[in-house]
Amino acid sequence: MYFGEETPKLGFGLMRLPKRKDNDAEEDVEQVKQMVDLFLASGLTYFDTAYVYDGGKSEEAIKKALVERHPRGSYTLATKLNAWMGCTDEASAKQEFYTSLERTGAGYFDYYLLHALQTANYEKYDEYHLWDFLKELKAKGLVRHYGFSFHAGPDLLDKLLTAHPDVDFVQLQINYADWENPAVQSRANWEMARKHGKSVVIMEPVKGGTLAQPPERVKAIFDAADPKVSTASWAIRFAASLDGVITVLSGMSNLEQMQDNVSYMKDFKPLTDKERDTVEKARRALLEVDQIPCTACHYCTPGCPEHISIPDLFSAMNQYKIYGDLEDAKDSYGYAVNGRHSGKASDCVKCGQCEAACPQQLPIRKYLEEIAETLE
Ligand code: SF4
Ligand code: SF4
Repeated sequence: MYFGEETPKLGFGLMRLPKRKDNDAEEDVEQVKQMVDLFLASGLTYFDTAYVYDGGKSEEAIKKALVERHPRGSYTLATKLNAWMGCTDEASAKQEFYTSLERTGAGYFDYYLLHALQTANYEKYDEYHLWDFLKELKAKGLVRHYGFSFHAGPDLLDKLLTAHPDVDFVQLQINYADWENPAVQSRANWEMARKHGKSVVIMEPVKGGTLAQPPERVKAIFDAADPKVSTASWAIRFAASLDGVITVLSGMSNLEQMQDNVSYMKDFKPLTDKERDTVEKARRALLEVDQIPCTACHYCTPGCPEHISIPDLFSAMNQYKIYGDLEDAKDSYGYAVNGRHSGKASDCVKCGQCEAACPQQLPIRKYLEEIAETLE
């Protein structure tokens, strides 16, 4: 038995909520309400937001769609404190907690995390005494369980878990595509967390949605094994089948995705050995496809002096890399630049702030050069 074993295995990730058709800067709260209701009606309870998601609009949306409409004991809510985006000192970092409390109206958080620790930023959490702050919040009953989300390798994870053995859980990027990816190290990080006896919350099981629509040769492997189920279901069940997992967060963006996720996760069945072999075949096939492994987390964009919407440009380029249709890819690129008011790839001044913020450690400047040459 590990901490969190009784929690249903699917969590509602609130990072990519649906946007209104008439105003794509605002969350479609009415649709979020329907998603919340379906999620709870399916016996699922775990909701995951963060102080920085969508500039605070994610926390505000969940107040309207969940907190104000359902009894507090009928769900669990997680949010996160980010010490390297949107705060400048210890006081403003700690203030994030109280702002999250006010934005959500939740009264307390079931799960509270230090957000997106990686090699470039983890020392900020020490400098601002945030580990002690977690303990204080728990002692006051404002936080029930605490942990951290993490984007680096097993050596740093080992160091953090050794220094902070009191954390209840750790949140890791785990999916079959990144299982052996040296930049992500899903397997090695999961093994390290379990070595320390920590329960795991899984993020990015569908890798920012990309594993829901994998390249044709990968999809064919899944379709041959079972044509009735979605490709996303393989990715989510792979993650949820691991030992020690509290919940698997799926960043659902519309009701249809939720209906699909819920259909196989409300009565979760771990992968059989045969199914595991199918996922392994797909993983190997995916390694042969050249694409930009961006998860669309947007951590890179707020600090870009040229306002380049990096993940949207990467998505357009991937359309070309995966499907080979240059005109379609150019259309998507044009929409990102003109429709979403992104800077162009060739506007990049190579300052490098985006690469310091990227949890996937992508060579963003190099990719932008390639995109400028191909799609402009
Ligand atoms: S390197 Fe380019 S894309 Fe990255 S933040 Fe600087 S200007 Fe923006
Ligand atoms: S480039 Fe990196 S930081 Fe930016 S959205 Fe993609 S994965 Fe996230």
